Amino acid sequence: MAKTPRLLPENPRLFRARVLRSERLTPSMQRVTVTGDDLAEFGYLGFDHWFRLFVQRPDQDAFRMPDLDGKKWWPTFLAIPEDVRPHCANYTVAEFRAESREMDIDFVVHTGADGEPEGRAAIWACAARPGDELAMLDQGCIFDVPEGTSEIVIAAEETGLPGVVGIAAALPRDAVGRIIQEVPTAGDVRELDAPAGVTVTWIVRAETQHSVPGRAALAELQRYVPADDRGYAFVVGESTLATEGRRHLHRAGLPKSRITFSGFWKHEARESVSA
Ligand SMILES: Cc1cc2nc3c(=O)[nH]c(=O)nc-3n(C[C@H](O)[C@H](O)[C@H](O)COP(=O)(O)OP(=O)(O)OC[C@H]3O[C@@H](n4cnc5c(N)ncnc54)[C@H](O)[C@@H]3O)c2cc1C
Repeated sequence: MAKTPRLLPENPRLFRARVLRSERLTPSMQRVTVTGDDLAEFGYLGFDHWFRLFVQRPDQDAFRMPDLDGKKWWPTFLAIPEDVRPHCANYTVAEFRAESREMDIDFVVHTGADGEPEGRAAIWACAARPGDELAMLDQGCIFDVPEGTSEIVIAAEETGLPGVVGIAAALPRDAVGRIIQEVPTAGDVRELDAPAGVTVTWIVRAETQHSVPGRAALAELQRYVPADDRGYAFVVGESTLATEGRRHLHRAGLPKSRITFSGFWKHEARESVSA
């Protein structure tokens, strides 16, 4: 298949928006729909278009977001006094409707060992009310198929699902390959608009012996053998899925330059007890 365009923005731009609504999309996913005049200029690229999300922290009385853009945004962000600095996390455009200047963002809802909701962005999303302010710094796409790719393999857990939905829909219709998508429960399985030649395997974690996100997808990926060394792989989600997935694919013959991998978050301490 032909190369997908390299999609990193030259000069990342900040977009301000406000919440329209927040609702539970599936048992493990909260969808927040946002809108704003800025979004008239948001150049949605499809695929796994992602951004840095800035939201108010629960201990703050207002959302204060300075103008901040470009590749060197981080020092400017850190220079904001800590008590007024908004929370920042990485999210993917789940859907974009240019005509109504609306964007959907899907947040994985997860709980800690004590059963309490955790994750500052996810907690914000579940409590979001119409009118709440936010900002997004455009980061473009990570998915980057090289020219002449023979087949595509994608593996992700639920944090990668919004990107996988976008990638499946944006792939050329003659693409061939495999998508391995893990989700927490059967109710989280969704329709993917994938090309006919791309086989989609849903793995429902609750129906496996794995409890740590990404481990079941990794086990499935480790059974996959690339057809040749001209494939392209995209492996994202919990850190072990990304790193061990890449290790397997490389050992199985795929050059490192043809594997995009990204650890979206780390399971860390709970790993030793529940893997
Ligand atoms: C390019 C990119 C795109 C992403 N797109 C999305 C997206 O569209 N939707 C989405 O939900 N996530 C997405 N993520 C992952 C998301 O950024 C992380 O899950 C992040 O930790 C969430 O921020 P937070 O502030 O809620 O959690 P934090 O406050 O940073 O984390 C609190 C605790 O929760 C744990 N944790 C974080 N995420 C999870 C999880 N999913 N399951 C279980 N425990 C978790 C952390 O390890 C930590 O212990 C993306 C990440 C990247 C790099």
